Amino acid sequence: MKLSTPKSHPRFLSLYYRDLLSEGVKRNITSLQGLTAHGRGETFDYLIGERTESFARKAIESSAALLILAKHPILSVNGNTAILIPKEYVELANLLGAHIEVNIFHAGKKREKNIADYLKKYGAKKILLPDSGKIPGIESNRRMINNLGQAKADVIFVPLEDGDRTGALKKMGKKVITVDLNPMSRTAQKADITIVDNIVRVMPILISQVKKMKNESTSYLKKILNGYDNSKILSLSLLHIDTRLKKLASRESSHF
Ligand code: ATP
Repeated sequence: MKLSTPKSHPRFLSLYYRDLLSEGVKRNITSLQGLTAHGRGETFDYLIGERTESFARKAIESSAALLILAKHPILSVNGNTAILIPKEYVELANLLGAHIEVNIFHAGKKREKNIADYLKKYGAKKILLPDSGKIPGIESNRRMINNLGQAKADVIFVPLEDGDRTGALKKMGKKVITVDLNPMSRTAQKADITIVDNIVRVMPILISQVKKMKNESTSYLKKILNGYDNSKILSLSLLHIDTRLKKLASRESSHF
């Protein structure tokens, strides 16, 4: 991809990911609405301080435990995640022996296929697409899922997801792990595990946690999960933002 931002720019990384997303739109992988969702994420990333904090690390550790213990884990991918972290998605799926399933908010067969083809370039062998499976209680095409994928799954990794679908998947009895920079979103509030951090920082850490914990005993992994409290993690993330803003506001001349 041709970059429009010089590497010397102080906010190069943030602008690089914007370039990636606009490339995603040109390739009909990311939706236009996906750009605004990214903007909402960036706002919260600024508030958090663009770093992986301890509440996110704790949630990542528990996510690794839940994904390793799962009988039928599924990694759901949308247009934003596909363009931002394709290599990492494929690596995580291979490590877990899990399938990746395309699920996009603004459904379209062509875009679903483009996402699948893009991930295949990064080594994915098989990508599931929505078929006749359905999420009860959801209107429109967004209810369609794969019968052998999310419909059968016990644990679903759904980063950057919308709140309605998260709630409906939970009602189906699925365990839901999400990544969401906004700790107040309905998804963040409803998921079993919420990683409040940027997906681009989360994936490498999650991959190394899975590698580290893969051979641990079931009882060890269950102990990690039993000690995990998502509402506490959400509270800690909000308190972190609050403390950070107070510190910034109390400086005489604040350099954000
Ligand atoms: P909800 O429906 O859950 O209340 P929402 O209406 O914001 O939330 P979407 O716009 O569908 O739902 O979800 C996108 C979510 O993903 C937003 O909460 C946004 O903060 C978050 N997000 C966007 N980009 C990233 C990113 N790179 N990493 C992590 N989270 C992100």
